[in-house]
Amino acid sequence: MPGERVYSSKCTDFINDEAIEKLASMPPQPASRVREIIAKSLNKEALKPEETAILLSAESPELVEEIFEAARELKRKVYGNRIVLFAPLYVGNFCVNDCSYCAFRRSLRTTVRKTLSDNELESEVRNLETLGHKRLILVFGEHPDYSPEFIASTVKQVYSIKEGKGSIRRVNINAAPQTIEGYKTIKGSGIGTYQIFQETYHHETYKKVHPAGHKSEYLWRLDGLSRAYEGGCDDVGIGALFGLYNWKFEVLGLVTHAIHLQNLYGVGPHTISFPRLQPAHGVEQDRTHFVSDYDFKRLVAILRLSVPYTGMILTARESAEIRRELMSFGVSQIDAGTKLEIGGYSEKNKDQELKREQFKIGDSRSLEEILNELVKNDYIPSFCTSCYRLGRTGQQFMEFAIPGFIERFCTPNALLTLEEYLLDYAGADTLKEGEALIEREMAKIPDENMRAKLKERLEKMKKESARDLYF
Ligand code: SAM
Ligand code: SF4
Repeated sequence: MPGERVYSSKCTDFINDEAIEKLASMPPQPASRVREIIAKSLNKEALKPEETAILLSAESPELVEEIFEAARELKRKVYGNRIVLFAPLYVGNFCVNDCSYCAFRRSLRTTVRKTLSDNELESEVRNLETLGHKRLILVFGEHPDYSPEFIASTVKQVYSIKEGKGSIRRVNINAAPQTIEGYKTIKGSGIGTYQIFQETYHHETYKKVHPAGHKSEYLWRLDGLSRAYEGGCDDVGIGALFGLYNWKFEVLGLVTHAIHLQNLYGVGPHTISFPRLQPAHGVEQDRTHFVSDYDFKRLVAILRLSVPYTGMILTARESAEIRRELMSFGVSQIDAGTKLEIGGYSEKNKDQELKREQFKIGDSRSLEEILNELVKNDYIPSFCTSCYRLGRTGQQFMEFAIPGFIERFCTPNALLTLEEYLLDYAGADTLKEGEALIEREMAKIPDENMRAKLKERLEKMKKESARDLYF
């Protein structure tokens, strides 16, 4: 919680509304220009906002289809077929802010408020581990109760809980922007990514939808992840809430933010999130800037092409159908078995109860159902946490910049975590389909030596019950 507001050392408001507005309203450019930009991104070069704007200007169905196909191609070439799985865990929904789109906003008296006790947190984590989860994102409202010390102690507790063969191996955070000192405290608990969504990069809209509380100050939030870097968190996630303002403006805001962090701190954001506004308890739907499914696909494809080295997160806000389709556009992480009620993982078979939740979700399938579908569609579900645990951070220098890194490390590690899931948690059909996928993927590994090492580890897991093996 900010007391005296100390900004990052190089704090500046790098969002120029007028310049971005001009780019966002660029008339359609010649097809040859659009194709030049597509070629640049297929060469894995990050795009400048002016170049992203050219992709955004494309309106003809043929050109838009070329953009979709390029995103699919980049996904196939750069990322392969791994999809990282995680679950959100809401810790508390008290909040001092008054965001007009959120059911947790302070002026809404009918929301059921709660912060998990230590025992309740333990129960939530045990239930998530029982299902096979290894990666969580802890979510908090903004409130004096959720101090950096509280967040850090929650993270430590989560790591300490072991149910059966299960454990949580990576804890990410989505919470309020902190002071530099606050980030140091939280980083000390061993977090992975610190996520903050700017919500909207458009100043006037920002002011309108954040009328009160700490969040009403645009620059404090915009500078939030720069302070994170200066507090030692070099693994950060940016995001915008689509539906508050013109989607093209927000895409350009995200791209500008990514470039700003890359230029200042030498590492761009680890992930980008692009949630679409969902119905929520006590929230009136303003559809002025509603993003259609078609435009949503455009924005995901264009983000993929603009920031080729950043992970992209598509959450259960979206329906199973949309998630299925967009997976091929370069999404690298999805949540599964998602429950948003505070304490929801400890309750069996309950429908969503919106008074207790931030918004309505579109994909309520279980982890097992989602994982089953992924393996049948030839995706490798991954719970890998190896780079983070071996200190291999600044991921773009690993996965992408080191030739062969994905074949040597990412794919084998993803297969090891899949085997772990299959042995400990999967139903019979997923087990059968999953083992077949592992066989197919093993056959594709070019390095014989690596294939042999992987085979040895898989055997160790099956015969000696070894777990948590990674390269
Ligand atoms: N209180 C922290 C904050 O605002 O940064 C934690 C984040 S909040 C619990 C997680 C994110 O959910 C917000 O940043 C916002 O983008 C998103 N969100 C809020 N209301 C939403 C809604 N009605 N539909 C979809 N996403 C929503
Ligand atoms: Fe609070 Fe975050 Fe909801 Fe805003 S989005 S009311 S800050 S929980």
